[in-house]
Amino acid sequence: LISIDRDHLIHPVSSWRDQEEAGPRILHSGHGAWLKDINGKELLDGFSGLWCVNVGYGCKSVVEAATEQMARLPYATGYFGFASEPAITLAGRLAARAPGNLNRIFFSQGGSDAVDSALRFIRFYQHARGTPERRHVIGLARGYHGSTYTGAGLTALAAFHRDADVPLSWQHHIPSPYAYRHPGDNSDAAVTAASVAALKAKVAELGADKVAAFFCEPVQGSGGVIVPPAGWMKAMRETCRELGILFVADEVITGFGRTGPLFACERENVVPDMMTVAKGLTSGYAPMGAVFMSEDIYTTIRDNTPPGVAVGHGMTYSAHPVSAAIGLAVLDLYEQGLLANGVKAGEHLAHRLHALGNHALVGDVRISGMLAGIELVTDKMTKHKPDAKLKIASKLSSIGYEKGVLFRAFGDDIIGLAPPLCCTIEEVDLLCDRLTDVLDTVRDDA
Ligand code: PMP
Repeated sequence: LISIDRDHLIHPVSSWRDQEEAGPRILHSGHGAWLKDINGKELLDGFSGLWCVNVGYGCKSVVEAATEQMARLPYATGYFGFASEPAITLAGRLAARAPGNLNRIFFSQGGSDAVDSALRFIRFYQHARGTPERRHVIGLARGYHGSTYTGAGLTALAAFHRDADVPLSWQHHIPSPYAYRHPGDNSDAAVTAASVAALKAKVAELGADKVAAFFCEPVQGSGGVIVPPAGWMKAMRETCRELGILFVADEVITGFGRTGPLFACERENVVPDMMTVAKGLTSGYAPMGAVFMSEDIYTTIRDNTPPGVAVGHGMTYSAHPVSAAIGLAVLDLYEQGLLANGVKAGEHLAHRLHALGNHALVGDVRISGMLAGIELVTDKMTKHKPDAKLKIASKLSSIGYEKGVLFRAFGDDIIGLAPPLCCTIEEVDLLCDRLTDVLDTVRDDA
């Protein structure tokens, strides 16, 4: 398997050279928060796959729902007047749980095409309103919004821009609400005020009537788990209203209980104009994403498209019935106690990780529910990042694997954790014990 992998399988995101040299770690099976590789090694998954397997592995009800749907009707188009029962039911249940009037739902195949779809719907909306000159879209530094051309452009991570000619001419970024490295006063109020001022300045620079929308993740994930200050999202939402631009929440990671409630927007009673989700929607059991839009955006596009004229957007696997059946089974689990368990486990995780703040290598601990970032420094006073020569990221991942714990390293200085919401308190303890052990080994090595 390793030699076939080296010869044929492209591993995006990682360095292709390093990946070919190291070969893959091949996973075989999973149960709850646990994975087993093909050599039988047991691993505690502290990252829910890629922050997606929120319900944990091997959930019988999910597998049964998928199997039943696959046997009965594996495929139905969501276009040309057709639909499937699970897609309709899922849309209805999600609309009932969505913030405010985000009543209209488009199902995509994952997060990147949910973001890409949202950008297209925003374009349709601006045309429908007669304001096509509102073309520009603003995101955040350290933001991640996917790998399609438009998603990668809205992303502000160097690896996603290299040799790709993005961001596109209409995509812009303002600084991230990154308190730990915020220059000067880094109180909640100062960091929030800086973001509000940066958004206003960017809109003024581009032209007050030239900007369509502001996109943000309620907690920035792939940029290093940056948790904005309390009140930040509400302030940004209000600023967008004041500026007459749309506020879009990319909840691909934060949705479905990752930060506690079903959607992170609920934490501050924020109602975005649009919301994108994926990952926890089907908990990794099958691909699916979604765009939620307000009734106003939907009806504006609908009412300005004459009868018989198509709104040309959609993919073959949009609203896939098997994914939708999985989505329903997963939603049942969230509603039947999994969200509550995630909140309890998240409180314990916060308690354990804050204690880790005393570790010599730990500069900052950021946590929101079952989503955490640990920033490593070699000097707590100067906040000096570990030298790249120490190769901390690859050490962390190999030592972690050896000790039976999976997490994600962002660069050489940030560890991300996103354990399944089904974790018991004992599993959270074991995860933190193993992580501490990994950090001790890396410290002794450095
Ligand atoms: N938006 C955010 C906030 C994400 O974290 C991701 C994936 N990590 C995406 C969009 C893209 O989703 P996908 O990988 O499912 O295409």
